[in-house]
Amino acid sequence: MAETIHKHELGRGERIVPGVFRLRLPLPWPGVPHCNAWAVSAGDGVVLFDTGMHQPGSVAHLERALEMCDLRIEDVRLVVCTHAHSDHYGQAATVVERAGCELWMHPNYEHMTHWATDTDAAIARRLEVARQSGVPEEPLRRYAEQRRDHDSGIAALVKPDRALLPGVTVATDLGAWTVHETPGHAPSHVCLFQPERRLLISGDHLLGRISLYFDYGYSPDPVGEFVHSLDVVERLGARLCLPGHGRTFTDVHAHIEGNRDLVRSRTERVLGAISGGELRTAFEIVPEIYDDVRLSAMTAPWLLTETLSFLLHLEVTGRAVRSPGEGGAELWQAA
Ligand SMILES: [Zn+2]
Ligand SMILES: [Zn+2]
Repeated sequence: MAETIHKHELGRGERIVPGVFRLRLPLPWPGVPHCNAWAVSAGDGVVLFDTGMHQPGSVAHLERALEMCDLRIEDVRLVVCTHAHSDHYGQAATVVERAGCELWMHPNYEHMTHWATDTDAAIARRLEVARQSGVPEEPLRRYAEQRRDHDSGIAALVKPDRALLPGVTVATDLGAWTVHETPGHAPSHVCLFQPERRLLISGDHLLGRISLYFDYGYSPDPVGEFVHSLDVVERLGARLCLPGHGRTFTDVHAHIEGNRDLVRSRTERVLGAISGGELRTAFEIVPEIYDDVRLSAMTAPWLLTETLSFLLHLEVTGRAVRSPGEGGAELWQAA
């Protein structure tokens, strides 16, 4: 199955406040129809926060969105990525080359280079995790075949010219933006904050519609890191959030609380599923955790990754233990 952008979806650009433009770019993913890049005026050009994905036709979508704001790719003076997922970083190489500008990004982007440089090895690693989780061989084989046909969504691997770490500031006409590490969704995730205007570029850390995603396998406890990152962002006191997907929103605190509640209830649910006395694989408990989501080839890998992230979080916090089972599977029970 080739990933193609829906024909009726077009890149669109709109001004949010003076000097801040939302570029809404289409994605080929079911349930996630588009992502946002943000252009912020800076001198005779703009700083581009995130880039959209690299896909057939995607450069034209970016150009169209910029044009609606009276901008061109050549006006970009700096590319800043909130994190190294393909929908936020995929077009970075294209923009950096055409605009002749720098890329700034957090140094923990190894989770992306796997997919961009050695897709087969990245798939093999994911299959190994799935096997440990107790996924049967047949769906695994189908997943591997499907995944091999997909391209990475990344134009080319381009390394950051500058490490986006606390202390670095991004200069724009609206003032300087400060950098805040917010791992959890991805190890490379940062949020950018403009203190005088209290604007937050939140990437995928905070979205208008509360939904969780964790990059599993690249850090000790993605769920715990995500919860800590919610505290980090709460302290900033943002007034307007410019998220990586969907519309801007002002009730930032309520979104932070919503995420905390969801993490709490999922953690309890996963703990409940392994508290019955029997040893269980991650795969076995997925349908109990997400009784409201239909399991499909599309949703299963994502739900399994999330369940594993919660099991790991329970283990790290001393509430679950794992033991080896048959065929390399890992079995879980409450501590
Ligand atoms: Zn992401
Ligand atoms: Zn995203």
